[in-house]
Amino acid sequence: MYKSEKSLPKLLSKIEKVASQIKRNVVLMEVCGTHTQTVSKNGIRSLLPKNIKLLTGPGCPVCVTAQEDIDAVVALAKAGIPIATYGDMLRVPGFFGSLEQARSQGAKVFSVYSVQEALDLKKDFPDLVFFGLGFETTTPMTAMALQNGLTVYSSHKLFLPAMDALLEAGQTKIDGFISPGHIATIIGTRPFEHLKVAQVIAGFEAEDVLVAIYLLLCQIRDGRKEVENEYVRLVKKEGNQVAQKLIWENFKICDGNWRGFGKIANSGLEVKNPELNAKIKYQNILAKIDFSQAKKPTGCRCGQIIRGTLSPKQCPMFGKVCTPENPYGPCMVSEEGACNNYLRYA
Ligand code: SF4
Repeated sequence: MYKSEKSLPKLLSKIEKVASQIKRNVVLMEVCGTHTQTVSKNGIRSLLPKNIKLLTGPGCPVCVTAQEDIDAVVALAKAGIPIATYGDMLRVPGFFGSLEQARSQGAKVFSVYSVQEALDLKKDFPDLVFFGLGFETTTPMTAMALQNGLTVYSSHKLFLPAMDALLEAGQTKIDGFISPGHIATIIGTRPFEHLKVAQVIAGFEAEDVLVAIYLLLCQIRDGRKEVENEYVRLVKKEGNQVAQKLIWENFKICDGNWRGFGKIANSGLEVKNPELNAKIKYQNILAKIDFSQAKKPTGCRCGQIIRGTLSPKQCPMFGKVCTPENPYGPCMVSEEGACNNYLRYA
């Protein structure tokens, strides 16, 4: 549908034209870590007309993982339980240090690229716990590992309640979302329909993002609030039903704990099988975590950045004391984090 329009100068001049027809400031938000990377890497923000602002929202799974979950998994590691999780997660500081620091003190902490690697590690470490995080995109893989007997500490989340929470909080007026293509690949387009805001589900090339911005601006100009699917090559209305089945066979909905939001009702995914649920299996260790001993806050503003109420450059520590080499918060650790991307592609 958009192939003929996929030349960058042509797309940019179309965006310029619609933006001038709107005659007011417009705030768009991308809510997927991979979109954050595409936007930053290609300098898309700097190409947009002056009245169009593009914010980064809660799309980075590492960034939205609650501090309390990190502390819980660090406590398990320090108690001698072998832990495996995705690489970026190791460096996120918790109140009592990071998983990487726990490893340097002798804990068995493994960085994995896939859940399959964690399953392989389980052969040598039968008590291994996989720290599962991410949205509907990564949850099916964790579900598959649960079916193969891996114990999981779940910080998995459903994404749409966070979009609801952003709109309900109203702290930032959002005129339209570039909605997450990866998640839509799993859940389909239907679940997005209840959100009363302009949305375009987009792919991950620079052209995809520019087409999404153009379509969003057309909706805003015309007063429409619809869900359009730019990522037709992968996203179908009903999504991936095999992956959905895997999720619901192995997880149940609970209230999710998000950095930047706190508890969001019905946004979390908990392991159904109590024997494979690390929060139940090791509740004696977890119950002993003394949060009254938590260190003072570092001044990190990731919570505000995740909600789009602050830009990374407005954090006083950005690029000075907080860098990818010495991160104070997850938004600087993760390659999908807003601070990391703003700094890397400055
Ligand atoms: Fe946190 Fe660093 Fe980002 Fe500031 S620049 S919000 S300290 S991660």
